[in-house]
Amino acid sequence: MKQFKAESKRLLDLMINSIYTHREIFLRELISNASDAIDKLYYQTLSVGDTGLSRDDFAIEIIPDKEARTLTIVDNGCGMTKEELENNLGTIAKSGSLNFKQENEQKEDIEIIGQFGVGFYSAFMVSDKVVVESRSYGGDEAYRWMSKGVEGYTIESCEKEGHGTTITLFIKPNADDNNYDEFLDAYTIKRLVKKYSDYIRYPIKMDVEKS
Ligand code: ADP
Ligand code: MG
Repeated sequence: MKQFKAESKRLLDLMINSIYTHREIFLRELISNASDAIDKLYYQTLSVGDTGLSRDDFAIEIIPDKEARTLTIVDNGCGMTKEELENNLGTIAKSGSLNFKQENEQKEDIEIIGQFGVGFYSAFMVSDKVVVESRSYGGDEAYRWMSKGVEGYTIESCEKEGHGTTITLFIKPNADDNNYDEFLDAYTIKRLVKKYSDYIRYPIKMDVEKS
């Protein structure tokens, strides 16, 4: 088990213990990362022209599974190497949120989260475990990053067809007033995609049959 950098730990802690009522924005963050990853590969396609891919080849897929209690977000973007998984997901990219938190200790988390994009770690607002399987474009090995929160993360080899990233969220069980079931519901997901991710330029697909 590897430790998160101290700053990451603090942000994770903030996410996990967040009383934030707008947890639903995690989906926006993950879709935006998927879109960024596709952008990267699409621009390579346009500029270098060596990928043999065209715009229509790119898509983001969302797979809710009520029985397994998982929500999976799949993209066929640039993917991440082992080192990139380590560096990008083990270290907080947006330390802006934390600086802001330090300067404004009296402010509620809700304001801090609202002020900044919260990024990948927002997955932990709704998940008790997050698994990221990724294969970088041009790479022939895939890796699985896994974390249950502040205690750290692991990275291991895995099997994965094709380039891109698959993120599986193990959705938290319901507790007291907290209903997480809605994040496994296809209609809620559709609503959230429409609300927050309407601007995304790649198709966002969901097979409603599976949910
Ligand atoms: P930001 O998007 O602002 O950089 P995030 O916390 O959302 O911050 O993501 C951290 C980094 O992890 C991204 O910059 C990117 O390098 C990497 N990353 C996250 N999701 C993906 C993905 N689906 N495909 C490729 N890289 C990703
Ligand atoms: Mg992001």
